[in-house]
Amino acid sequence: MRTMIVAGNWKMNKTFQEAEDLTAEITKGVEKLGAPNVEVILCPPAPFLEMVLDLTDETYVAVGAQNVSEFDFGAYTGEISAPMLRSMEVEYCIVGHSERRKYFQESNDLLARKVKSVLRAGVIPIFCCGELLPEREAGNHVKVVKNQLEESLFDLEEKDFRNVVIAYEPVWAIGTGMTASPEQAQEMHASIRELITLQYGERVAQDATILYGGSCNPGNAMELFSQPDVDGGLIGGASLKADEFVEIVKIAINCT
Ligand code: PEP
Repeated sequence: MRTMIVAGNWKMNKTFQEAEDLTAEITKGVEKLGAPNVEVILCPPAPFLEMVLDLTDETYVAVGAQNVSEFDFGAYTGEISAPMLRSMEVEYCIVGHSERRKYFQESNDLLARKVKSVLRAGVIPIFCCGELLPEREAGNHVKVVKNQLEESLFDLEEKDFRNVVIAYEPVWAIGTGMTASPEQAQEMHASIRELITLQYGERVAQDATILYGGSCNPGNAMELFSQPDVDGGLIGGASLKADEFVEIVKIAINCT
């Protein structure tokens, strides 16, 4: 079923103590709201996962990882696998963030393998897709995202695809303050839903959760989340400030 989600991607930020304080503040704020009908997810750096899991236990806040290995177990020094995440009760994992694509050369093929590993383990992938600025300027944005979905997701069986959350994140909007307009976001989200319809049928497409990410903040969340095909957000910078993140959750609740 389509769920409104607000997920915070902390990236490689915060010390342990700062992360503890941020988790406590966000959890307190979200608990006050009650977060009905909205799934709130925190994606801290991997070394802090256990602490965030402990602090959010039996609250409305769920926990996700930011990255995962394509392998389940073995001699892959420094890697963290999906079965490991699952064994800690991590529920979500971001896959294919544009920073992973850019700085770690993650290809659509590799991401397809990561998505499969995550699903096999029973963790929900938050699969990121999105175009670069020159690709948008050339009018190729839909084509680029179509290719990312086709190469990384569309060979999944329907039952597995149903467990994937998609995050549309135009790369030019990430961390830049250049948010996509509500119209630009809606156009792409509708296109993604249409592509899902062609691949898996109308019902699966209508149930799919598609998040927007890219400089989303309390000032623009309402107009973005009010778009018919936008089901919440993946939040970077604004998720590092408890009051801003909780405000975005509040806005999402008002949009359900
Ligand atoms: C992100 O990193 O996924 C993101 C959307 O970042 P920001 O909100 O800072 O643009």
